[in-house]
Amino acid sequence: MRIPLSAPEITEQDIEAVTGVLRTSNLSLGPKVGEFERAISDYVGASDAIAVHSGTSGLHLCIRALGISEGDEVLVPSFAFVAVANAVRYEKATPVFVDIDPQTLNLDPSLLEKAITPRTRAILVVHTFGCPAELTSILQIARRHGLFVIEDACEAIGAEYEGQRVGALGDVGVFAFYPNKQITTGEGGAVVTNNSEIALKVRKLRNQGRDDSGEWFQHTELGYNYRISDINCALGIEQLKRIDAILDRRESIARQYSVILRCVSDLIIPAMVLPRRKISWFVYAVRLSRRFDKEHRDWIVNEMKSRGIALGRYFAPIHLQPIYQPSDSGQTALPVTEFQASRSLALPFFNRIREEEIKEVCQTLVELIRPG
Ligand SMILES: *Cc1c(COP(=O)(O)O)cnc(C)c1O
Repeated sequence: MRIPLSAPEITEQDIEAVTGVLRTSNLSLGPKVGEFERAISDYVGASDAIAVHSGTSGLHLCIRALGISEGDEVLVPSFAFVAVANAVRYEKATPVFVDIDPQTLNLDPSLLEKAITPRTRAILVVHTFGCPAELTSILQIARRHGLFVIEDACEAIGAEYEGQRVGALGDVGVFAFYPNKQITTGEGGAVVTNNSEIALKVRKLRNQGRDDSGEWFQHTELGYNYRISDINCALGIEQLKRIDAILDRRESIARQYSVILRCVSDLIIPAMVLPRRKISWFVYAVRLSRRFDKEHRDWIVNEMKSRGIALGRYFAPIHLQPIYQPSDSGQTALPVTEFQASRSLALPFFNRIREEEIKEVCQTLVELIRPG
């Protein structure tokens, strides 16, 4: 693709740091893992960070560490990445989908309470596209019903809610560092929490259920190998050093798009500013007006593609995925999720996108959506 949807920003310094690890014999379980974890926990303002090999494995460990299992229900959005619901199903618990707020695209707090049953154990809230969810109400509801709150902050590193960085404002949270995220480790993730018991448990599960006795062949839990290498962490440390500049740059790209697309009548553009929040720009997703349906949207994606411009269909609702269909026959309707998902278009969005590229994307899109 001439203009890709996303692209990691790798500097010479990043390359130096990675090759530096390759010159040592500490490729895994070396000093870079702990260094990355401390940098993440400092940045987020959490007492603990545990680095893992993906956001998905981080979400799975949250579910395991909270003791959520068969028969339990977890409230999740369907307008999200499939890993959100899969992590619940890995432990044979049931994801219960709740609809979203049409503006922020996050879980709608006013619908959460109706979805709570005696089996509900947790709310897994996603800060969609880097926009923090309405945490005050969500935490209140959770407290009232004795539920855990898991934050999926995989798209939202550096985002703030009421002046605090998201991730560890609930019981436990997760970041992800796949190359399309704000910062990358290649593959990677981190679990963050202020609860030392949860932290200990996650640490143990990540490393084959080993306890901290230091005995390599002492396994006290059914654990996993969800470790991340020092090579990945070295990249993460360098990327995190530049995060302020990265987030500023991404916000300025979002603003450039908004200035051009603001007055296009058939497009609903994302809000640049929302009360109580600082957005960490993960993607720039616009929505087509009611005049368009999913087929029309998909035609636009294909036309843009034939001109060398990649667009994303974020998100395809989880409850409509083939692996979720059968178990979901009794699922209540999710009209906002389905409406928004069928009309959303994520535009090319990466740190090094050039102004001419932004203009070309907008111009081509406007030509394609113009009536007649
Ligand atoms: C990226 C992402 C994840 C984790 O993805 P991995 O590829 O496993 O690192 C989880 N949830 C959301 C919402 C994401 O965007």
